[in-house]
Amino acid sequence: MRTEFSLARLADPAIAEADAILRACVHCGFCTATCPTYVLLGDELDSPRGRIYLIKDMLEGDRPAVAEEVKHLDRCLSCLSCMTTCPSGVHYMHLVDHARAHVEKTFRRPWHQRALRTLLARTIPNPSLFRIASAGATLAKPLAPLFDRLGLPQLAAMLRLAPARMLPSPAPSGRVFAAEGPRRGRVGLLSGCVQRVLSPAVNEAAIRVLTRHGFEVVLPDGEACCGSVTHHMGEEDRALSAVRVNVTAFAAELDGAGLDAIISTASGCGTTMKDYGHMLRTDPAFAEPAARVAAKVRDIGEFLHGLGSLNRVPTPALTVAYQAPCSLQHGQKIVREPKDVLARLGFVVRDPAEPHLCCGSAGTYNILQPEIAGRLRARKIANLEALAPDVIAAGNIGCITQIAAGTAIPVVHPVELVDWATGGPPPAGWRSAP
Ligand code: SF4
Ligand code: SF4
Repeated sequence: MRTEFSLARLADPAIAEADAILRACVHCGFCTATCPTYVLLGDELDSPRGRIYLIKDMLEGDRPAVAEEVKHLDRCLSCLSCMTTCPSGVHYMHLVDHARAHVEKTFRRPWHQRALRTLLARTIPNPSLFRIASAGATLAKPLAPLFDRLGLPQLAAMLRLAPARMLPSPAPSGRVFAAEGPRRGRVGLLSGCVQRVLSPAVNEAAIRVLTRHGFEVVLPDGEACCGSVTHHMGEEDRALSAVRVNVTAFAAELDGAGLDAIISTASGCGTTMKDYGHMLRTDPAFAEPAARVAAKVRDIGEFLHGLGSLNRVPTPALTVAYQAPCSLQHGQKIVREPKDVLARLGFVVRDPAEPHLCCGSAGTYNILQPEIAGRLRARKIANLEALAPDVIAAGNIGCITQIAAGTAIPVVHPVELVDWATGGPPPAGWRSAP
């Protein structure tokens, strides 16, 4: 694609990068077929190629974003399916991240949108605040239909996603879990924000699996939200502040007792953490430690796959419908590994139809774009339920929450099944299933 940025503008590293990405696009349109919003809406401006043109026009014009551009960029899930499909290697993720930051700097949204986005950006990354907000949403859950009738579908969506019961206080960081048996290494684990509150059982299972297989596990003092929630909302400064906090916490462990890997059990977080080096590349104080931290990040499924055989105990040969999180399959290109780990442990793992399509979760998307997110969830659940599985497994808290809100089949994290099959308890979601 031909671009026309001036030399002066190309001196800005962010514009130079956007220019290189835009030039890589040959506007072939292959990406449209696998883009969830194009599949649903059929509008070229809701396809990757259409959005790339919108971004090009917006950035080349060096002007504020306009409402029509914001509408189509907001509808993008950042699912990165287009990056998997693109034959030219267009790095859509970095391009849309830059565009979102430009939108937030230059476009004034209606007051109620600003209020909702501010609430989400301040609350979700803070586990204590998020727990309080979740408790309020749990109490108000029956009011969701009323908010729909009042024309407030985003608030209705928030209530529908709220947990059915009050949640315990999030566990603190700064803890170390000793390896069992012969020691094989030492790993850091990201507690993060949302998962720590909504499903603490996931990291508890990961810690049991890792320690059981000879790894000391450290939850570094000071680690926090990975930054992806605000990053995907275009709140660049807030996101980079969170990234610096985590780089500081994990780099201290790398420089201290050392880490063989930094494990993420939420693939959305892992994708962002693997990008820390890029996100802080122009920060002289943080570029080097951020790159070192990013290089150590592994998804839990990726890490366990690399260990080879695990210590298996007898468990039921359940049929597992595997939901591939977009951030894992498209963002990190990890497709086979979590399924192989489960299959080696005796589970019957099956892929649904349209595995490349997003479930509609996508960070805060299922709150900010409830209509499209609801249609994607219904499509995903129909494909998963068609397998008649005993359980659905998804390696990202966003997918787990989104899918569990629409099916009676238990939805768990794969590491909870690995824990069960290697001597731990059955997954919490399995035990509480009807
Ligand atoms: S597939 Fe890649 S090169 Fe083709 S239009 Fe989409 S982004 Fe551009
Ligand atoms: S990230 Fe997903 S929704 Fe956005 S343009 Fe690419 S395929 Fe479409």
